[in-house]
Amino acid sequence: MDAGDMGRDLEKVLIPEEELQTKIKELAQRIDDDYAGRELLLVGVLRGAVMVMADLARALHTPLEMDWMAVSSYGSGTKSSGVVRVLKDLDTDITGRHVLVVEDIIDSGLTLSWLLQNLESRGPASVEVCALLRKPEAIRTPVDVKYVGFDIPNEFVIGYGLDYAEKYRNLPFIGTLAPHVYS
Ligand code: 5GP
Ligand code: MG
Ligand code: MG
Repeated sequence: MDAGDMGRDLEKVLIPEEELQTKIKELAQRIDDDYAGRELLLVGVLRGAVMVMADLARALHTPLEMDWMAVSSYGSGTKSSGVVRVLKDLDTDITGRHVLVVEDIIDSGLTLSWLLQNLESRGPASVEVCALLRKPEAIRTPVDVKYVGFDIPNEFVIGYGLDYAEKYRNLPFIGTLAPHVYS
């Protein structure tokens, strides 16, 4: 795919690269303040959180380790069901650790809600969540997300880690797809 194809596939840029980077630095500042004197374990949820994890980790001054989980939620079509399967578990024992889950986007919040219960059962000192994006539906779930980058409209977004059929993750901004791509 060349730049011309990408231009045609893209409907609009929702959040430009500069805005993403500014927001991530703000989130990192808040996290640094909140975790002063402590050490963090960042848990990135594969694969969507790769970009936000990489930029957030580099913006943080708090001593930290990084680990990854991959989960899949069973559901029909594009809706997650809340029934989650662990495809890759953590390599780290999180007992007594301060865990910060790093997520790309919270939609229904079902995946995250399951993940938080799973992590809590392992006896961490604390578990909080940092999500770059949050959709309106997330407000209906009881999941407490301490750090949120942007509340966005209920549109399917791509870029900065987020895919459509595994493509577009490498875009440095958040955008929406032109209808011809998925119709
Ligand atoms: P939830 O369980 O909160 O409904 O599902 C969250 C997951 O669904 C995200 O981690 C992401 O993988 C996927 N997802 C939800 N909304 C979008 C979207 O607008 N674009 C993309 N690319 N993935 C999304
Ligand atoms: Mg995710
Ligand atoms: Mg995806």
